[in-house]
Amino acid sequence: MAAITTTVPQVVLQSSTGQRRMPVMGLGTAPEAASKVSTKDAVLEAIKQGYRHFDAAAAYGVEKSVGEAIAEALQLGLIASRDELFVTSKLWVTDNHPHLIVPALQKSLRTLQLEYLDLFLIHWPITTQPGGVKYPIEVSEIVEFDMKGVWSSMEECQRLGLTKAIGISNFSIKKLEKLLSFATITPAVNQVEVNLGWQQVKLREFCKEKGIVITAFSPLRKGASRGENLVMDNDILKELADAHGKTIAQICLRWLYEQGLTFVAKSYDKERMNQNLQIFDWSLTEDDYKKISEIHQDRLIKGPTKPLLNDLWDEE
Ligand code: NAP
Repeated sequence: MAAITTTVPQVVLQSSTGQRRMPVMGLGTAPEAASKVSTKDAVLEAIKQGYRHFDAAAAYGVEKSVGEAIAEALQLGLIASRDELFVTSKLWVTDNHPHLIVPALQKSLRTLQLEYLDLFLIHWPITTQPGGVKYPIEVSEIVEFDMKGVWSSMEECQRLGLTKAIGISNFSIKKLEKLLSFATITPAVNQVEVNLGWQQVKLREFCKEKGIVITAFSPLRKGASRGENLVMDNDILKELADAHGKTIAQICLRWLYEQGLTFVAKSYDKERMNQNLQIFDWSLTEDDYKKISEIHQDRLIKGPTKPLLNDLWDEE
């Protein structure tokens, strides 16, 4: 019997070349030490299930595996062409220098075995000395972030056809306003943390007004991966999930979908990967929304540096 695949709705990225469409839900690929499944196997399984959008980054060290999975999916005939997929990667802070950006993207493309990306993002509004990936970032290695020069090189990447769209990640409204003051290509996407425990109402309104799509990362607040979790262990959400006959993860993802957002959830587990896709044919009620508004708000991802930077989020 043929496997049942889910079709994920799409949104158009306004400033992309050829009005590229992005599936609202993508698979995250940030590494987790505890994961027993390889990225290659996970991406291949995800393609079988209907995922078409993959969120990678140079810093995750997964581009080779994502590329191998795509090559195998093509070989197996799971997809007819690479164009059926939406592949994102991100520029690491060590390459956040105007002259290093085109070479960094070319390196990502070689590692992924792809001719173009669908979306290339500035991972963080931070620049460090060039070099290898270190995480967390040492504050002593931070240098000035030349936002204008960097964005101009990102625009060059899109003009050269190396990517269909460009965007940013972890940008506050203040930083976005600065970027928009000189951008000739509006960022297509701002990828930021959004989940039921960090709902980001103001940033979402701002981006909507500017035609910038938000992609929510950590939509489950890292799911079950870290101790007590403001959403996955939340009694209000447990009640909602039981009433709908769904899981808390599905309530979280359905809420993001109903907000008109795109999102990248990570599961390398076959069952949970499938569960996360089953959110497009039911709805939350008005009463659910009242309960959701009571959830305590607190940012999960405070920053990538050690120690944390005081001005990273501009107090938003
Ligand atoms: P997440 O998607 O909120 O949570 C992932 C965790 O949840 C995994 O441990 C996963 O475990 C578990 N999980 C997934 N589905 C589940 C379900 N239905 N029920 C129970 N547990 C479930 O967190 P994330 O990985 O932090 O964020 C997702 C992606 O966003 C990343 O992989 C990355 O691509 C991107 N991201 C970007 C940035 C940025 O700075 N731009 C920052 C963070 C993340 P199993 O695999 O065992 O299911």
